[in-house]
Amino acid sequence: MENALPTLIGLSRDELAAEMVAIGEKPFRAKQLWHWIYNRGVTDFAQMTTIAKPMQEKLAERYTLARPTVVTEQTSTDGTRKWLLAFSDKNQAETVYIPEDDRGTLCISSQVGCTLTCQFCHTGTQLLVRNLGAAEIVGQFMTARDSYGEWPTPDDTKRLLSNIVMMGMGEPLFNYDNVAKALKIIMDGEGISLSKRRITLSTAGVVPMIRKTGEELGVNLAVSLHATTDEVRSRIMPINNKYPLAELMQALRDYPTNNARRITFEYVMLKDVNDSDADARNLIKLVKDIPAKFNLIPFNKWPGSEFEQTPMKQIKRFSDILFEAGYSAPIRQTRGADILAACGQLKSESERLRRLKESQAAE
Ligand code: SAH
Repeated sequence: MENALPTLIGLSRDELAAEMVAIGEKPFRAKQLWHWIYNRGVTDFAQMTTIAKPMQEKLAERYTLARPTVVTEQTSTDGTRKWLLAFSDKNQAETVYIPEDDRGTLCISSQVGCTLTCQFCHTGTQLLVRNLGAAEIVGQFMTARDSYGEWPTPDDTKRLLSNIVMMGMGEPLFNYDNVAKALKIIMDGEGISLSKRRITLSTAGVVPMIRKTGEELGVNLAVSLHATTDEVRSRIMPINNKYPLAELMQALRDYPTNNARRITFEYVMLKDVNDSDADARNLIKLVKDIPAKFNLIPFNKWPGSEFEQTPMKQIKRFSDILFEAGYSAPIRQTRGADILAACGQLKSESERLRRLKESQAAE
């Protein structure tokens, strides 16, 4: 059953206070609600014991705290967990949890589909349906916390869900306002309370929004670079025609960083396209003056893609060249491959499998 009531999730503190005033309550109620919603994670107004029954009932008549609907939840043999979530208009997006030794990272989507059309990305073959709202972005995190029973908000050092990467479906900087609003809610110290140091936003390079991200959010920045010349980058990432490398690198030089908080350059290893020793050396020149680290991503193949993965031996060589120049350049381990949770595979794959199942069922 769809819940037709408006949600209180995703409102800023000021909006929540205004909402209370609009229904004849005192603005301070917003502070109480904030605690119950984002620290305790309650989904039922009746659990809000600091609020008197009549007001609990009044809230329940008018609002919901429901999460997105979990369509499927799959857990990989390596512990990676993936949720396919449906929103109230039936649109879907995926969220992935990746446990590691020293942290647990939730990979959050910012859009349903994507408009970037990066040639190596499966999500890019699917048209943009729409931006996700702030409630739907925060809702992904809350759903994951529900799944691991991680309420009330644990100590920073004792969490499974300790980090966030905005690296799911979509380009977060094409949906800046909703992403910013959601991250501010997530970073609020009286609620979910995740430090900006534990949040990384990944962009394909929407130059005009990079400065704003630094000034307003101060989260870690990752940039999907994937090429060292405009010629190659424009071919595999059309956004480079609009914001070429020189402009992108200038915006990154201006981003608030230091040696402890470097910009991560993601680099998908595509056989014979961007993976030569000369490319590695170009990369080093390109990031000069920027506190940088690299993340080399073995290309995850998908049906119909024109690219091949660089052989592991050459990926290692590429990594060594960067390392010898003084940069950290780990090779990103493919996680959750058995549940199709890897980079560039989100949603579109689930959608393809669903269609396949439907067509088989119809036969
Ligand atoms: N739009 C943002 C967020 C997506 S992050 C961005 O471009 O950064 C997803 C990461 O996975 C990006 O670095 C993307 O380039 C990379 N990626 C996409 N398709 C991939 C594939 N098939 N194999 C490996 N990495 C891929």
